[in-house]
Amino acid sequence: MLAQAPHPGPAVQSIPHVRIDGLNKWFGAMHVLKNIDLSVGAGARIVVCGPSGSGKSTLIRCINGLEPFQKGTIQLDGTALGRNARDTATARRLTGMVFQSFNLFPHLTVLANCTLALRLVLLKPAREAEEIAMQHLTAVHIPEKAQAYPAQLSGGQQQRVAIARALCLNPRIMLFDEPTSALDPEMIKEVLDVMIALAGSGVTMVCVTHEMGFAREVADEIVFMDEGRIVEHASSRDFFSRAAHPRARLFMDTIL
Ligand code: ADP
Ligand code: MG
Repeated sequence: MLAQAPHPGPAVQSIPHVRIDGLNKWFGAMHVLKNIDLSVGAGARIVVCGPSGSGKSTLIRCINGLEPFQKGTIQLDGTALGRNARDTATARRLTGMVFQSFNLFPHLTVLANCTLALRLVLLKPAREAEEIAMQHLTAVHIPEKAQAYPAQLSGGQQQRVAIARALCLNPRIMLFDEPTSALDPEMIKEVLDVMIALAGSGVTMVCVTHEMGFAREVADEIVFMDEGRIVEHASSRDFFSRAAHPRARLFMDTIL
């Protein structure tokens, strides 16, 4: 099932799943994230957009613990990520990540891709891991490919497996980095449909995408980035009716 039980308990729900304060990151001399503040509440559906090179992937990768950063704090469920060390243990446990390029393990079957972390990270017995994986593969409409290898699947099918794999660990938040931009046009819809269902099931999502139809349908907040800054953060309704920042308006004109 896509429907993940919302993580219960008032103590947990009162803490945003992600809280970013004053985040700054440099690649060498290049300042790529500038004073980013962002709070992602439980059940929020946030779409991040902006021109290429504006820092969207880097931001997502910082939340996922894939990138060190130099200044500011990132808290996941109230626990601060380390700034210097790649804090993979905490971040990976709490976040599910879906990349543009699927990143499935080519030498493992679809099922084994999905059960790997369940077995190695959560130490689930094989049978239970397979049951969980099959539930998620069913939810993304691809249970019949459980024994196939990634190379035997279309791009859209691989991306749906990648989503199922990320969901297997029951993450607090799902992070998507342009999940449909590597897909042929006819496969985009099948992936977006899965993401729309996921949004409907209450999973907290931060999604980098230029699919503005999707953003309009599922996002409750839109973050627009430019040159390493968040230059606009608005409710979806406000953003689409009157994106205030000139750069955001220009960007919308180029992609719509
Ligand atoms: P976006 O996802 O919005 O296109 P990125 O976060 O990928 O932007 O990149 C932001 C800036 O950081 C760009 O100028 C990019 O060239 C640079 N950058 C990204 N990754 C690296 C890296 N590993 N090393 C050096 N520079 C990088
Ligand atoms: Mg990117």
